[in-house]
Amino acid sequence: MFDIIDLHFQGQREVIASYLLHGPRGAALVETGPGSTLAALEAGLHARGMEWRDITDVLVTHIHLDHAGAAGAVARLTGARVHVHWVGAPHLADPSRLLASAQRIYGDQMDTLWGEFLPVPAEQIVILHDNDVIDAAGLRLVALDTPGHASHHMAYLLEGVCFTGDIAAARLPGSAHVRLPTPPPDIDIPAWHASVDRLRRLRPDSLNLTHFGPVTGDPLAHLNRVDANLEAMAAFVHERWQAGASTEAMIPEFTTWIAGLAAQDGADDDTIERYEVAVPSYMEVGGLVRYFTKAARSA
Ligand SMILES: [Zn+2]
Repeated sequence: MFDIIDLHFQGQREVIASYLLHGPRGAALVETGPGSTLAALEAGLHARGMEWRDITDVLVTHIHLDHAGAAGAVARLTGARVHVHWVGAPHLADPSRLLASAQRIYGDQMDTLWGEFLPVPAEQIVILHDNDVIDAAGLRLVALDTPGHASHHMAYLLEGVCFTGDIAAARLPGSAHVRLPTPPPDIDIPAWHASVDRLRRLRPDSLNLTHFGPVTGDPLAHLNRVDANLEAMAAFVHERWQAGASTEAMIPEFTTWIAGLAAQDGADDDTIERYEVAVPSYMEVGGLVRYFTKAARSA
């Protein structure tokens, strides 16, 4: 029913996935990846005997650059409809604010990491609300509004198969370690737990993560780890933030701590390194510090 295309982000295997769905009326993609891996996406299509023109629909879980950065380029190459959360939709049509926000996180690494972000032609955008039913290449998917990682996040359910974007966190093949992407600017911890609970109650047969691939084994056990590690990471940063530690001081400490957790969960050194590529510590600490600072201001 679907293939996983490894986008070989930053030359690494199994860090960012794009899902190629085969339907009765063509094919659809869930996630495009960033602009920097457009050639890998094309190679992945060709390897499966597909051309850009076979893609009728593109679904992005949210508009962060590692998930949707190539959406504009793919829209132009395919003419496909691009399905996106209603909050994210304006930023695909005009990415200037999104790019300015990313620039603050990634600085001079922007181009190397993400490549070009072209606007998606407005007439190709399909705006999604919670529980919308999508006909993509003749397949029926349900959009699940799942905030927490971002305010503009959808998971997609194709019968029992759930494409989770980042709401079910990152877990690289060969390890049970679950690592939470907590980037600035709009993570929301209670909303994240509520979204995980929503997935849990749907009892999906499989969770398919953008970072990376299907969760083999028990999806509910994975979701429990998402909850637990979100709490553990938040507590680690909150404690130091409360004690007045700077973000810069926290990052190396966090990097060592989270690598230790991954090792306990059976990740080898290569996998630990790839976790850091998929979900960098500076991004996680930065997002959590911003979250706690914002919460304290509004308290
Ligand atoms: Zn994201």
